[in-house]
Amino acid sequence: MSLDLLSLTPEAAKLVLEDWLAQRGEAPYRVRQVFPRLWQRPVARWAEATDLAAALRTALAEAFPLRSMSLKTHQVSGDGTEKFLWALEDGEAIESVLIPEGKRRTLCISSQAGCALGCVFCATGRMGFRRNLSAGEIAGQVRELMLRDPTLKPTNVVFMGMGEPLLNWDAVDTTLTILNRADGLGIGARHITVSTVGILPNLARFARRPEQFRLAVSLHAPSSTLRRELMPIEKKYSLAEVMDALKHFRRRVTLEYVLIGGKNDSVETADQLAVLAQPLEALVNLLPLHPGGAPDLTPSSRAQMLAFERRLKHRGVEAVLRRSRGLDISAACGQLRVELEGGAPSRRKVRAEEHAHIE
Ligand code: SAH
Ligand code: SF4
Repeated sequence: MSLDLLSLTPEAAKLVLEDWLAQRGEAPYRVRQVFPRLWQRPVARWAEATDLAAALRTALAEAFPLRSMSLKTHQVSGDGTEKFLWALEDGEAIESVLIPEGKRRTLCISSQAGCALGCVFCATGRMGFRRNLSAGEIAGQVRELMLRDPTLKPTNVVFMGMGEPLLNWDAVDTTLTILNRADGLGIGARHITVSTVGILPNLARFARRPEQFRLAVSLHAPSSTLRRELMPIEKKYSLAEVMDALKHFRRRVTLEYVLIGGKNDSVETADQLAVLAQPLEALVNLLPLHPGGAPDLTPSSRAQMLAFERRLKHRGVEAVLRRSRGLDISAACGQLRVELEGGAPSRRKVRAEEHAHIE
């Protein structure tokens, strides 16, 4: 029997290790040598923890194998954005994107392989759902980076890679603990952002966590009719319900809004969005549409994006027009994997539609 310690909270993993070491008749201080190898001073394999006796290392490897991912592709963009495509043990591929900005290094991580929600502008959505990631595989994306180079440890983590984090709540719940706790990765809660389309029951669970984790909600449309065109999840959890849930969220929320030419980028639409965002005092993140995700949609013109941003600000909403990072390496939401797998887009589209209905 083997156990995946990397998918437990640090507290639980420590208890398991303490018990196991005690059963082997090891001295109690041993846990202080073994435990930090999970997250604080990670090793890829127990064999590399050379401060431990060889027999202990072998026994650890048998009882608690450290799951690893192998780097399939690594791309560096002209603007410094780095993209990592990892192969998991069962061959599924997921990606993380590292975005350096001054002293900050933000790592965008995946919570699922693929995504069932089929938003029309999203490359991951086109791929369909493959499977949920374990906590060890989600937080493991940070761990792998540290194994490659400890100075690469991110200062910030955002759940904006592949997948919908709140449809994998149990693993994401544990991952938040691993990322944040001092005996895990020790990243401040305010430097960790969960991005979601608004899966209401799990949004409530997330809101109940006492730490100051940040929340970003993918809105993309200020009316139910328009949102339904872009995001099938609107049929299950409506804009009105999501906005209502946000009123009860105790911390400031970010609203994500991808600008799509001729779809959701008119100044009238900005006015409608302002009506939603203003009472919440939400920050609106305006994202240029990354064309790779949706060949049949066009990005808004620069002039239109600026007009949209200006209108929101004029209405008293704090809005930021983001630069599109890593354009030359397709660093947005599932794009690298879709590119690598190739194949006919039409076939993938059918698959995405199959998965787009939400239970
Ligand atoms: N499923 C979650 C988190 C992953 S998507 C969510 O949707 O919030 C993370 C962000 O990437 C979302 O805000 C999404 O709208 C954005 N995104 C997806 N495809 C995009 C594209 N083609 N161009 C720009 N942003 C995109
Ligand atoms: Fe899934 Fe988010 Fe992409 Fe929508 S935008 S398909 S929810 S990953």
